[in-house]
Amino acid sequence: MLGKRGAPCPHPWAALHRAGLINRVLAPSNRRLFGDRCPPISLSCFQTPRRIPYSEAIGQEFRPAKVGDSFGPTWETCWFKVELSIPPAWAGREVHFVWESDGEGMVWRDAQPVQGLTKEGEKTSYILTRSMKEPEPHSLTLYVELACNGLFGAGKGSMIAPPDPDRRFTLSKAELVVFNRDVYELLMDLEILLDMAQLLGEENQRSFQALYTANQMVNVCDVMDPSTFPAARDLAAAIFSQRNGESQHTIHAVGHCHIDSAWLWPYEETIRKCARSWVTVVRLMECNPELTFACSQAQQFEWVRSWYPGLYAQVQDFVAKGQFVPVGGTWVEMDGNLPSGESMVRQFLQGQRFFQEQFGRICSEFWLPDTFGYSAQLPQLMRGCGIRRFLTQKLSWNLVNAFPHHTFFWEGIDGSRVLTHFPPGDSYGMHGRVEEMLKTVKNNKDKGRVNHSAFLFGFGDGGGGPTQKMLDRMKRMTDTDGLPRVQISTPDRLFSALEKESSQLCTWVGELFLELHNGTYTTQAQIKKGNRECERILHDVEVLSTLAVARGGAFQYPASQLQRLWRLLLLNQFHDVLPGSCIQLVVEDALQYYAEIRRAGARLQEEAVQSLCRELLQPKAGNTESTLVLNTLPWERTEVISRTGPAGTETLGMSNLGVAHIPEFLTGLCNWGTPILQVWVCEICFCPFPKEDGSIAMENGVIAVCLDVMGRLTSLRLVDSERKPVTTLLKPLEITLAGGLRGSASFSLQIGESSTLTQEIILDATCPYLRFLTQVEWKEAHKFLKVEFPVQVRSTNATYEIQFGHLQRPTHWNTSWDWARFEVWAHKWLDLSEHGFGVALLNDCKYGASAHGNILSLSLLRAPKSPDAMADITHHQFTYAVMPHLGSFQDAGVIQCAYNLNFPLHVVPASSARCPPWSAFSVSSPAVVLETVKQASPRGRTVVVRLYEAHGSTLVAWLQTSLPVQEAVLCDLLERPAAQGRLPLEQRGLRLSFTPFRVLSILLVLRQ
Ligand SMILES: [Zn+2]
Repeated sequence: MLGKRGAPCPHPWAALHRAGLINRVLAPSNRRLFGDRCPPISLSCFQTPRRIPYSEAIGQEFRPAKVGDSFGPTWETCWFKVELSIPPAWAGREVHFVWESDGEGMVWRDAQPVQGLTKEGEKTSYILTRSMKEPEPHSLTLYVELACNGLFGAGKGSMIAPPDPDRRFTLSKAELVVFNRDVYELLMDLEILLDMAQLLGEENQRSFQALYTANQMVNVCDVMDPSTFPAARDLAAAIFSQRNGESQHTIHAVGHCHIDSAWLWPYEETIRKCARSWVTVVRLMECNPELTFACSQAQQFEWVRSWYPGLYAQVQDFVAKGQFVPVGGTWVEMDGNLPSGESMVRQFLQGQRFFQEQFGRICSEFWLPDTFGYSAQLPQLMRGCGIRRFLTQKLSWNLVNAFPHHTFFWEGIDGSRVLTHFPPGDSYGMHGRVEEMLKTVKNNKDKGRVNHSAFLFGFGDGGGGPTQKMLDRMKRMTDTDGLPRVQISTPDRLFSALEKESSQLCTWVGELFLELHNGTYTTQAQIKKGNRECERILHDVEVLSTLAVARGGAFQYPASQLQRLWRLLLLNQFHDVLPGSCIQLVVEDALQYYAEIRRAGARLQEEAVQSLCRELLQPKAGNTESTLVLNTLPWERTEVISRTGPAGTETLGMSNLGVAHIPEFLTGLCNWGTPILQVWVCEICFCPFPKEDGSIAMENGVIAVCLDVMGRLTSLRLVDSERKPVTTLLKPLEITLAGGLRGSASFSLQIGESSTLTQEIILDATCPYLRFLTQVEWKEAHKFLKVEFPVQVRSTNATYEIQFGHLQRPTHWNTSWDWARFEVWAHKWLDLSEHGFGVALLNDCKYGASAHGNILSLSLLRAPKSPDAMADITHHQFTYAVMPHLGSFQDAGVIQCAYNLNFPLHVVPASSARCPPWSAFSVSSPAVVLETVKQASPRGRTVVVRLYEAHGSTLVAWLQTSLPVQEAVLCDLLERPAAQGRLPLEQRGLRLSFTPFRVLSILLVLRQ
């Protein structure tokens, strides 16, 4: 044996070399970790392209199979039937069923899932017995359900390449073995000691002590004689039990398994990933009562609940014991940038309600370790949903700037603060190694301020979760001098410890911007469009249904249908779906869910309108056809609308909704007469370039526009302003509507080798913005389509809409923090203003934007090839609009215009009976947006309205309603009444106090 006769080498690194040899002597390949082995009595299989339940699988015809066979192709499932008989001679021994194959396996026993098996996740053993007793049955039948995809899908050549459809999956081992736990423990001792020797550094005497201990262990241990093992283990125990001083850093180790709800695999596979990962955690918990496991995403709990009820019952038991810890409070771990404010509220509302119903409590921390940036509105939304704590780590991926904190207060645009922690090891998939513990302390940027860090261990992204080995490593580091203290802990214990030490913490104000993956604002434009459109559809269905209920009659609020549709929308907001970083299979599923929301949403909307306007819609004898207009936004609107006549021809009319006194959330009949305000279009541009160059001019009394023959906007100016043209260039396209209520011109361009772009540029009477209705046939590779508007505005900051508010970002690249934000995200608008004048860019389904110098730009389409080679290769239709304005964007109504562009008026054929306009709500201040009107759950005649301050101002506003309100109470975002939240019903309505960007929710109890 090495070192047995001589003294240890005085230099640790030389000795380590010898220690490496020790490791090889004890390595599993030397058949010491596993003792006797025995093949299955029989092995058979059948294969299916579908993901079928166990009950269906076992009824199929199984054919003989053997180790060495391969299966596939990708996404198929192979079910194996394995008959085993444990040799009686193994009595008293620990017996494992060892299964090594490609793909992801799940062991079934007695009709229940019992163990997940993946080589990639270092899980290849199912423990049959820790110590086989004589009377135990020695024969048993197991089934192994093998998914033909890896933990990370099946990328061809590299992980994030598009999946290889023809991959084969080989079974390389299936046998019973005797597991020698004493050898395993010895190996774990040596691994930790060697890591300490190697990683603590020559300046640290503990590294020498660890090395010398390892050497002594080798000296006392005879690998052929297990009776020598305990003495070796005692040596290790002695050094591991030498304690730290009081000041040592504490690491809170929490088991975790990040499971992307869809990414390099489809949603359906995720359901099985959850089962494989969680059943493995449950097995570990049975043997390790100290193990804790933080688990997010209500959707995944719901999947396991409906597909694996037996497993779910076990999960519930461990939740009750405090080991399985639901965290996050959201329906899925959503994208942190693109969902609307209301969508983010619903992520929490659906999530927290689920956790409350299923486990009797809501989550106290928001958990979003892996998304591409975090909206500055999130702190307020968390606080409104019962959450004061936030855990993430993704900013460690910043390409340019290192984020300066790991523990800090994060302050949002309204001033709300949450205690935020980034696990300083910069990962949510740790393995419990010495190196990771040391990195966690070394890397921690706030270690002078707080003495506690999180450490999330377990294979993640594609599932997998913790292993016994990880736990056994950390058991040896509980409190060992020289290493940070490692406690198996919970998020609650971690944050409670941090809260106690929080007096010295710094505060970060504003968004947490990820300097990477900016492409996720644009890629998969159809998903982005589906998201924006479905957010609008569900908004409108809720408004119209609530009003239909409030106006009486037999109408039932479609609560369960709305919950189903919301959950589909929320699922698609998962942080690899809405950002477009998923494979094509996922895109297909996502688009189907949007189609379902559109289809069901249209039906629900129709039912609500029928109930709301029944009398007007019933044609009466002698009535000529008229048009009913419904406005689902909280302000009056005067817009050009169109209706299709019997012959299919389209006629334009003016919705003169502005004449009503309480016109918001309004229904009214359209005036189809000729309005005074019109649009003029002429074929020769009179400004600012020579005539007869083919350009076209349009003017509507508000803005005047010149377009060149290429369709470029060469001049845009406010008619009543002395301002010079905003842009300059050259040429005519074709007039499509010659004026009157609407003027428009259209053109087509070849863009790239085989892509085309067709645009209709539309100016409506009274409308303060110019719309670009755009169609693109997109067939590009690695190209990016953007539109730029160079404007004559000078400002060091541009303003971008975010959830329930806006924020400013610089237009210069002074510092690395500025230029790293070369492209940013926004919702419906961005604006560049100087004092008294500005230009806003509005859109109906885009999210990527920038303002650099005087150039405003919008990101339209991309063409990446991984992980979806077909991303965005299709037909697209979208609209953006440019809006020059006097005054500030607030005073000019940019926010309202962006809503108008996104929420078109509903035009419904009606009888011509005169009806007085009817309005449900009005708000006294243009700074306050009434965003949401829905029924409160549980059902009943209680309505929730949600408003926010959109200008960034402190004010008092009055909310008036024509609904029969009996009682009004402020509530939080989970719709729980606030203490002392009762609002008096006054003559002018409800008096509401706002500070900048404050979101207020109110319960309105209606009279019967
Ligand atoms: Zn993820």
